[in-house]
Amino acid sequence: MADTPRIAVVGSCNTDLQFMSDVVPRGGETVFGTGFDMGFGGKGANQAVAAALCGAHVEMVAAVGGDMFGAETVRNFNTLGVRTSGVRVIPDVSTGAALILVAKDGENRIIVANGANDRLTPADVDAAAGQLAAANMVLLQFEIPLDTVYHTIRLAKARNVRCIVNPAPALPADLAQLALADYLIVNETEAEVMSGRQVRSDDDLHACVDTLLDRGMRRVILTLGAKGALLASPSARVHVPAFPVSAVDTTGAGDAFIGSLAVFLTEGMSEEEAVTRANLYAALSATRTGTQKSFAKRAQLEAELMRRRTGATR
Ligand code: ADP
Repeated sequence: MADTPRIAVVGSCNTDLQFMSDVVPRGGETVFGTGFDMGFGGKGANQAVAAALCGAHVEMVAAVGGDMFGAETVRNFNTLGVRTSGVRVIPDVSTGAALILVAKDGENRIIVANGANDRLTPADVDAAAGQLAAANMVLLQFEIPLDTVYHTIRLAKARNVRCIVNPAPALPADLAQLALADYLIVNETEAEVMSGRQVRSDDDLHACVDTLLDRGMRRVILTLGAKGALLASPSARVHVPAFPVSAVDTTGAGDAFIGSLAVFLTEGMSEEEAVTRANLYAALSATRTGTQKSFAKRAQLEAELMRRRTGATR
């Protein structure tokens, strides 16, 4: 294998605070919950961690607040081998945080406070230009200001660095700016919003992909949950099936897919092989609860791939 892949992520960091409760409090009411869990999240951070666990050198470019969550976020990155010289600590703002209330029926109610993520500017990206130029691939999502996303794509292209954009959460965006990227990776909701076409059937999903390609995207990868992923270019379209698993929690599966895919593509695998492996990496994450906590190490992925390909049983 060639050199260790170098991946840079320009994106968000959140602290996820998950409360489990049998009852959802009404206004003015206080209730006792049944449990609490805290985890590191944010799509940018999740994708960075997935790429690092898959064996890449990862540079994170992000903003966190001067609170304890910011310090813990940096510590988590350091523990996992994600480099943080591009993470700016902004003292007068909170670190991005998500309050997730999980009710008895499993339904989530979520409040996200973007905090420092909203303050990641093009100037921060310029300050990390050296790290970005040294990367093989840059990953972007939509939990930071869109101007910062567009600026990063332009910088990456000017330095000949490949770029993956994951427009999540889905927001109307300037497709002409995104078309400079090498890959647009969307789930079904994001495909609908980005293309502006309503989806009621599989044919509609293909039409969304057509629209995105017509608007100049070079490659569109549409993730399809338990159905795998569609890899589409203007000249070809390949459906890459998922690996069957007993899914218990698919939170973060999309991030596992993207972070790992960046590594496989950088290692020089064909796109179809890279998507196949990313499908397995994401499927494995769905078999465990949590987001980053559910991501496997590279050796676990390779062992599972071997088992699945040789038909060996556990
Ligand atoms: P998101 O998490 O962004 O909504 P998807 O639900 O499309 O994205 O999932 C991303 C990827 O995770 C899929 O393309 C697939 O590889 C994998 N995946 C998700 N759910 C399952 C599942 N139930 N079984 C197997 N693989 C899954």
